[in-house]
Amino acid sequence: MSSRSNSFTIAVFEGDGIGPEITRPTLELLETVARRSGAFDLTFDMLPAGAGHFRDTGAALPAESLDRARAADAILLSAIGLHDVRYDDGTEIRPQVDLRIELGLYAGVRPVRFFPGGGCPLADPRAKDIDFVLVRESTEGLFAHMHDGQVIDDRTAIETFRITRETSEKLFDFAFGLARRRGANGRRARVTCVDKANIFRSFWFFRSIFRERAAAFPDIEADAAYVDAMAMWMVQRPWDLDVLVTENMFGDILSDLGAGIMGSLGLAPSADIGDEHAVFQPCHGSAPDIAGENAANPIAMILSAAMMLDWLGNKHDSGAMREAAAGIEAAVDATLAARTAVTRDLGGTASTGQSFQAVMDRLR
Ligand code: ATP
Repeated sequence: MSSRSNSFTIAVFEGDGIGPEITRPTLELLETVARRSGAFDLTFDMLPAGAGHFRDTGAALPAESLDRARAADAILLSAIGLHDVRYDDGTEIRPQVDLRIELGLYAGVRPVRFFPGGGCPLADPRAKDIDFVLVRESTEGLFAHMHDGQVIDDRTAIETFRITRETSEKLFDFAFGLARRRGANGRRARVTCVDKANIFRSFWFFRSIFRERAAAFPDIEADAAYVDAMAMWMVQRPWDLDVLVTENMFGDILSDLGAGIMGSLGLAPSADIGDEHAVFQPCHGSAPDIAGENAANPIAMILSAAMMLDWLGNKHDSGAMREAAAGIEAAVDATLAARTAVTRDLGGTASTGQSFQAVMDRLR
């Protein structure tokens, strides 16, 4: 299953709700860019998992799906979860979170940028300069023991929070490396550690490791901020931000704030990256409220697929894959700027299919 030099297997989880509706066009788009490039080819391994699968079979992430995902070159996942399908303890079916822990995907990359025509709610003219990346640690923090929470005698609830040196060092090195690559492309190179080090020892530990790792990247600016202040700055002056690195739960919340700044969850892509594996998926959930209406915005999924091509291109030193990724991003930018096929979340009436077709039509 692993790659020959230019042939890649992509494990695909279509998931629940709007998942299949945004996955099918995205695979068509990926096939098109691969065919036009002629420099690489992609094989899709469609794998069952999710809340619907759990309801039907009792397994949220079958062992065979996990094995095949592990063997693939990259994993593309749409959206998983249905509010009315839950484990006995009341929590929702979220195998994507288990997948992050299982595959050691510690770096959750969530780019936030201004899209002309994308519906950014900030009126300040500097909003057009918004271009930052949130790196959310995705295996520890408040999620490290997510299945072990206790409610004692119906009086007290306890969750456990964990930060480790090993993961934090890798996380910070990833964030500094990302800032360095952005700096090479002419952007400001600064990493900000976002924490709550004024209150919690564990966050002081987190920030201390950040300072240690910053010393190994003297060409990159490093500073730190408390999460509550950062939430305000993301609204008041997001154009000043570059790379933010933070704990899992804080990153979960701030990435939705980032999506709000962009104009819609339907525009927010993400990548969860580890030393060996990576999962690419939109920041949004399965949006059961609009599932089946052909109204979902496919752009977050399409941009996640572009991030996948870029990651594969960097990993396998393929300029053609990086170019294909940039071509998809450019087609999305042009589509949004034209505002001819705008889905409901952005104030339009276009269907998922029309939005997708508009991006396809603008592919170079
Ligand atoms: P999760 O906890 O997995 O993030 P959720 O139910 O809290 O799931 P979403 O499923 O992301 O959140 O949905 C939040 C809102 O955003 C819903 O009203 C949904 O319709 C909308 N939404 C999410 N994704 C899209 C999309 N791609 N296009 C249009 N609307 C979307």
